[in-house]
Amino acid sequence: MPELPEVETVCRQLRAAIKGKRIRAARVLDEKIGKPGDTAGRIILDVERQGKWLRIRLEGGQALEFHLRMTGRFLRLEEKGVPPHARFLFSFPGENIFLVDPRRFATLSLVEGKNRRPGADALLELDAGALRKKAESRKTAIKAFMLDQKVLAGMGNIYACEALYRSGIDPRRPCRGLSPAEWKRLSRSIRFIFKEAISMRGTSISDWRDLYGRKGDFQNRLRVYGSAGAKCRRCGGEIARIVVGGRGTYYCPGCQV
Ligand SMILES: [Zn+2]
Repeated sequence: MPELPEVETVCRQLRAAIKGKRIRAARVLDEKIGKPGDTAGRIILDVERQGKWLRIRLEGGQALEFHLRMTGRFLRLEEKGVPPHARFLFSFPGENIFLVDPRRFATLSLVEGKNRRPGADALLELDAGALRKKAESRKTAIKAFMLDQKVLAGMGNIYACEALYRSGIDPRRPCRGLSPAEWKRLSRSIRFIFKEAISMRGTSISDWRDLYGRKGDFQNRLRVYGSAGAKCRRCGGEIARIVVGGRGTYYCPGCQV
């Protein structure tokens, strides 16, 4: 599932590719995605991300708002032809940009451009003090708390596991029991991992591809996610898989306390 670094990757690539251009045609190819109306002829002012939401701002104040959900991605093609599982098409002179989504959970709607989704962005608005305050009244495990999109919009399972490992924090710990120093350490780890993953265009362990159909590279930097039974690079212990808040969770019992 695309998480913050993958959505940020495609956001930057779309911005570079289509900002300032006039949409020649915009067509829904699969009605399950939503009913965005006809936006042909409008100029794209910018492409923005909040959490896992992607917004293409149009002249006139509205925006096309996408959520990629499980398997959604964008694909730019210069040649003619429609790729498999295409659900939506933007066309510009000389290039077509498709939303491709094999599992068909991605959504699209036309919204007022100023509207924001609830939840502070997990990278741009990350704040250790605010997180600690929000956690005070909660009994959930830190890992489940991190995945709450109203708390850390854009956080997902892979990067939550990796950030907790980097911070040395056990994913089962009650979130309200973390010390101020641990919140700072966790916030620094989240920021570090997101920035690195964005610079490597995300994690392609299953079907993630960028706007140009290329895999990301961050799967080569994962330390715990998907590595049950492997040796921990820090303490030599064995990486374990457990379930926290209903989600598969990878961690090192030796050095995450
Ligand atoms: Zn370890």
